[in-house]
Amino acid sequence: TSAFQAQDLVPPDVSFDVTRRFLADNNDNKINLGQGTYRDENGQPWVLPSVKMAKASLDEFNHEYLPILGFQPFRDEAADSSCQSLSGTGALLLVTLALKKLQSAPDTIYITDPTWVNHHLMFSTIGYKVKVLPCYKDGTFDFDAYTACLRQAKAGSPVVLHTCAHNPTGCDPTKEQWKLIGSIMKENRLFPIFDSAYLGFNSGSFDEDAWPIRYFMEELSVELAVCLSMAKSMGLYGERIGLVSFATLTRESSQIAESVLQSVQRSTITAPPAYGARVATAILSTPSIRKQWQKDLITMSSRIRLMRKCAYEELVRLQTPGDWSCIIHQTGMFAFLGISKTQIKHLEKKHHVFMLETSRLSVAGLNEHNVRRFAEALDETVR
Ligand code: PMP
Repeated sequence: TSAFQAQDLVPPDVSFDVTRRFLADNNDNKINLGQGTYRDENGQPWVLPSVKMAKASLDEFNHEYLPILGFQPFRDEAADSSCQSLSGTGALLLVTLALKKLQSAPDTIYITDPTWVNHHLMFSTIGYKVKVLPCYKDGTFDFDAYTACLRQAKAGSPVVLHTCAHNPTGCDPTKEQWKLIGSIMKENRLFPIFDSAYLGFNSGSFDEDAWPIRYFMEELSVELAVCLSMAKSMGLYGERIGLVSFATLTRESSQIAESVLQSVQRSTITAPPAYGARVATAILSTPSIRKQWQKDLITMSSRIRLMRKCAYEELVRLQTPGDWSCIIHQTGMFAFLGISKTQIKHLEKKHHVFMLETSRLSVAGLNEHNVRRFAEALDETVR
């Protein structure tokens, strides 16, 4: 008998499955608002001009292993103890495995509800008890419910914070709210993990979007972890390039943290991939390419913002029942419509408009050619 015989089939990942259904659809007018990947004004994947410049600048290189902690010039771009990771997913994995290895090994981790589909799966797979903090109500960040639950969180536990462009709601705390969240976390000795997969997508500036991290480090002086992904911010999705960094209170703690990261990296993937690290480093360390990258982030974030405006204006023009202003108030890559699963199925079956069943849509999938059609489909669906 097979070792797998008694096992149930594990359902496919909801996000990747939307892409699969989209690709299988033969309709010429189909619209993919599922997976969170940037698309240009023609709905095509976009290789950033800065990435093209970076690739052209690379010298001939060999294909030796990188060190366990990754490409040193790439790591030098981050502060404190750091380790190159398999994109943002790998960064979260390394951080949560590292925390589990410490003497204080937390058993519980806190995530938002709703959140990125992979948070719960990953942390429960590692053996954490996963608890949720409600964060969304009526198209906005639910500060009261969030902080009420945060105050009850178990001391010493890690809390995953979406640094910007909350996935899936697009609703972030204001700076004032971040300050209060920070003070509760410091008081209750909670360990912040800044999940930073969309830096640059809110404001167009990588540094401005990282404001909550700087605030926690510089004003609150707490220890924390930063999980960086270059997937969206540099459009390097498939290169799996990211970084995890611990900000610690002492030099000694920093050395210990780095040694733990090295150990969990070795035990999971040995060494990270080299090519994306070379491209990302060329972007960050060459002033002319870095300048182009800053323009590229503005190109992506402003096109998405324009599409929010266009979609909203179309819905107003159509007098679609309901208040759709959340589309323009939410930020980052996603809009969270709060429509029902039945309506989402209808959008897919009748109109060939694909989005996640949570009612998250990737605004980057909209463009001037399809935004009117999208609005008309939504209008017909909710009437
Ligand atoms: N965190 C969040 C909140 C995300 O939305 C994503 C990407 N969808 C990631 C982490 C990690 O993505 P990647 O591994 O592609 O960098």
